[in-house]
Amino acid sequence: MKPEYRFTCTACNADVTVVGESVRRSLLEDGCLVCSAPASPDDFEPREATIGEP
Ligand SMILES: [Zn+2]
Repeated sequence: MKPEYRFTCTACNADVTVVGESVRRSLLEDGCLVCSAPASPDDFEPREATIGEP
């Protein structure tokens, strides 16, 4: 199962669910999808996967 993170942009307050380590890494490299501000590891919060739960 892929890890999930919640990314909250400190610049534009975008709130994005990130699924998979590779997506998280590309956000760290390319910055916020919305405003292109640099993302830092502190902007990611691990999420419990909800797939399969009621
Ligand atoms: Zn942003």
